[in-house]
Amino acid sequence: MAKITVAEHAGFCFGVRNAVSIAEEELKKTGEGPLFCLGPLIHNKTVLEDLAASGMMTADDISAVPDGSRVLVRAHGEPRGTYAEAGKKGLKLIDATCPHVKKIHDIARRAGEEGKVLILVGDASHAELKGVMGWTDGRSFAVQTAEEAKELCRGLLAEGLSSEDIAAAAQTTLTAEMFESCMAVITRFFPGAQVNRTICRATSDRQKAAAELASESDLMVVIGDSSSSNSKKLFEICKKGCKNTIFVEKSYNIPLHTLKKYNKIGVAASASAPERTIKEVVRSMTEVFTKNPQNEEANEMSQYMDQIERSLKLPGRNEVVDGKVVLVTKDHVVVNLGCKKDGVLFKNEVNLEEGQELTDVFAEGDEIQAKVIKTDDGDGNILLSKKRLQSSENWDEITAACENKDVIEVTVVKEVNKGVIANYKEISGFIPMSLLADHYVETADEFIGKTLPVKVTKVDPKRNKAVFSHKDFLAEERRKKIAEIWNTLNVGDVVEGKVMRFTDYGAFVDIGGIDGLLHISEISWGKLRHPKEALEIGQVINVKILSMNAEKGKISLGLKQNNPEPWSVIDEQYEVGQEITGKVVQIKEYGAFVEIAPGLDGLVHISEISHKRVGKVSDELKVGQEVRAKILEIDKDRRRISLSIKATQDPNAAAEEAPAEAPAEAPAETPAE
Ligand code: SF4
Repeated sequence: MAKITVAEHAGFCFGVRNAVSIAEEELKKTGEGPLFCLGPLIHNKTVLEDLAASGMMTADDISAVPDGSRVLVRAHGEPRGTYAEAGKKGLKLIDATCPHVKKIHDIARRAGEEGKVLILVGDASHAELKGVMGWTDGRSFAVQTAEEAKELCRGLLAEGLSSEDIAAAAQTTLTAEMFESCMAVITRFFPGAQVNRTICRATSDRQKAAAELASESDLMVVIGDSSSSNSKKLFEICKKGCKNTIFVEKSYNIPLHTLKKYNKIGVAASASAPERTIKEVVRSMTEVFTKNPQNEEANEMSQYMDQIERSLKLPGRNEVVDGKVVLVTKDHVVVNLGCKKDGVLFKNEVNLEEGQELTDVFAEGDEIQAKVIKTDDGDGNILLSKKRLQSSENWDEITAACENKDVIEVTVVKEVNKGVIANYKEISGFIPMSLLADHYVETADEFIGKTLPVKVTKVDPKRNKAVFSHKDFLAEERRKKIAEIWNTLNVGDVVEGKVMRFTDYGAFVDIGGIDGLLHISEISWGKLRHPKEALEIGQVINVKILSMNAEKGKISLGLKQNNPEPWSVIDEQYEVGQEITGKVVQIKEYGAFVEIAPGLDGLVHISEISHKRVGKVSDELKVGQEVRAKILEIDKDRRRISLSIKATQDPNAAAEEAPAEAPAEAPAETPAE
């Protein structure tokens, strides 16, 4: 059972596929004039016949193209003069020059502008080099061997030229050995010469893959066209590794009757070989081994054919692909995807920082990953996107953060209706105003431009929706902090706290990250109508932890406990007969209560208010009034204190006032006095 292997790199290169696609698209257009290609579009008879059948004509020179026609510049490129000529003739020029070749045109143009002599390593009669030489206004020479290079350099040196006068480049399809052997000579004569390594990897990749496969195969089939120098070169390379190498243009060229002699058959294809020819060749060879469908070998071969089909298959839309960068220009990057089409990554599909260029980020040979956004953009390209790959990675990260309740960082970019837009890398999400902070937020001004840690509360990549919550993050942080602090606290501890806010029933005090409640009844031993009577916002106080409810996360605090309960120490501070100053706190019919100290109220009976007769307590005393009084009695058991105001007053002073109050009742006694 023979094993058939197609080389890793085989068939159309990017430049050829691009040119063929452009031609096919142009041929679909109607009413735009005849289409001429300057020279054969591709060195492949089958493809050229198909294009000719669709109406494409070939002209050797632009002068042969009739006015009013469209003229296609093939991948090899054309000299600058061709463009000028097309303009003069009013031709519509369609440029399918391969970007690799365009790069050498630029090198040639710059060399001319800088007054340098351009040495090209390659075949001067090849269309590509003819085109390149037509882009320099200065002098250019082509060499193909080290010997030719030596002779040229001797002459240039004799003219008095130095290193800074020399630039060198290669024909794209040259072998690296040939270029380096010539460069070794050129740089020996001109050590500082400007060296441009312009060999296209499409060719070298195909050559390398073919050489490797040939060394492992006992039959090597090279698919190409006899008119293509590349194809011939590929044949020569394979022959070195496998003496049984055959060259075929079509499947019918294969000596099928001999195939069964071989166990390992390799297939290589030049950059001008179309995919369909490769498939035909592989299929015909496969059929040799699948004559009898019952045969075990046949099944194996059919599986193998599937494998080949898969290798020829193109990636699907949204597929994430790996590839190797083969070309970087300022507008796009060409990526070899290991399939029969290259991928193209345009600048607008890459996240670049301001002022950054594709050439700053990518280099030829880089291995990259990207997402397929279009399998064919109409020009035969697989369109790739780094942005969307990053975007889907970002969605994965957000989804994981949502599932795992992880924290991510977002940047708030603008306020919208009822919330703000916040970006996580490439993803824009929404933070409702109610989830922006742990307090009420009127406008989002203070948050714009800020980076906030958030929790992901909702995520729907398909609908491009993500909702974030900074409030949830803060709540979790608070929970963590509470848990941390909680473990360090015990009932009975006295801790420092800051009065944060008041309510009618008490004050909330921050004790190092947790708010505890200082109930109004725990602020003072006396009676308070509002906590502000004893405290101020921001005031730092020492409070005692009275209780801790771990489940509810609540802590009750006490302030009055800092002082002894007044009745427990009354003997130390007060005694019968002692005069005190107090404040009237309550008026009753039978007397007034006077606060001696917080938690210690004494009663001044109506009869003890004044030496004169008092009819109504409120006529003599007002709530809040400060009075002097004498302690008449302290009843510790009943917790009662009797006070007398009149005992602190002069009885005569009251008598002098008496007539005015009761003139009718004592008129008889007045004369006796
Ligand atoms: S071989 Fe390279 S330079 Fe030539 S057309 Fe193909 S991609 Fe372009």
